[in-house]
Amino acid sequence: MIKEKYHRFRQWQQDPFDYHDSHHHHECCNCGGESDNNYCPRCGQKAVHGPITWKSVWQGILDVWGVGTRSLPYTLWQLVWRPGYLMRDYISGKRQVSFPPVKMLLIVCIASLVISNWIKPEEVVNPVVTSTGLRYYVDVVNNWLNVHMEWWILLAFSFLIVPIWSLFREAPKCYRHTLPQGFFIQVFVGTQFILLMMLIFIIASLFLLNYNGEYMGDLAIVLIVPLLLLIDFKQLFGYGWWGTLWRTLMAVPMSLLILKVLAYFGRAVLYLFEQGMGRQLWKLILIGVDRAVLLWLLMEIVGVVNRKEWHDKGWWQVVKRPVLVALVYLVVTVACYSLGAHGGLMSLYETYFGPMES
Ligand SMILES: [Zn+2]
Repeated sequence: MIKEKYHRFRQWQQDPFDYHDSHHHHECCNCGGESDNNYCPRCGQKAVHGPITWKSVWQGILDVWGVGTRSLPYTLWQLVWRPGYLMRDYISGKRQVSFPPVKMLLIVCIASLVISNWIKPEEVVNPVVTSTGLRYYVDVVNNWLNVHMEWWILLAFSFLIVPIWSLFREAPKCYRHTLPQGFFIQVFVGTQFILLMMLIFIIASLFLLNYNGEYMGDLAIVLIVPLLLLIDFKQLFGYGWWGTLWRTLMAVPMSLLILKVLAYFGRAVLYLFEQGMGRQLWKLILIGVDRAVLLWLLMEIVGVVNRKEWHDKGWWQVVKRPVLVALVYLVVTVACYSLGAHGGLMSLYETYFGPMES
């Protein structure tokens, strides 16, 4: 009994959609064209749409959330029970199965802001920003993100696009997904994340008095995000648990590197605005390049592991390029140390375990 229910659930997870032709001959109410399909082939109006009735009123109201398989509630429901499969359906071209993802993310974000503000009105504690020019905007955004950890994490999902693309390129399902497809994957993941955080926040505020969301960020980083990604990627890419686990874990330092590259180049731009050209500018750029080359090296290594070509191509053919990139990395990283900055590997180590004693 339970086994059969689980079996049916698994089937639903993998493909819940069932499209039928209407197969009755009718004349289109809009243009008069004749067909026996669900939609008029001439003007595109839905076959069931007749003159306005009470049903049309109801449908008009539902239209706000999309109708049929594309409805927002049903897409959110799928995001809870079959997230990875939904993503694969969508990016493989089955667009009708999902509410438009970017629009969905926006609606869920706004809803979450409204709800959390309604449950726990935010005391406005705006740190005074005294800086001017470009730095002013940087500081304002920084301050806001420091207070709202979960929005920071949402932003951080975009740093996952390139690592996930590199790590899961040769996945059995969703083979060779592209970066634009990766963008949509992260939009779905982000929506899922905000949804879950909102749920936890509501439950916590209802049952724990004086709860103000202070542990939300920590909880998310340690528990929720890894679990979410693991389930999503297992369903989406079709590797086993181990294959999914090490790739998901590997995505963390890789996206950290992207963050570091952006941070150093961002600081270089700020420096250029405030001080103009100078020695410090070149140092910042060099450190940024160092982190970028390290990321490139990791991507090359991951590529070798993923493709497993050494049986038919021979070792040297396979590791030729990674070795070359490793040499470039060595040169850049030595240059970094000569300027008194840490290399990329050491900076990753320090991010996890704190600064090295020297
Ligand atoms: Zn028509």
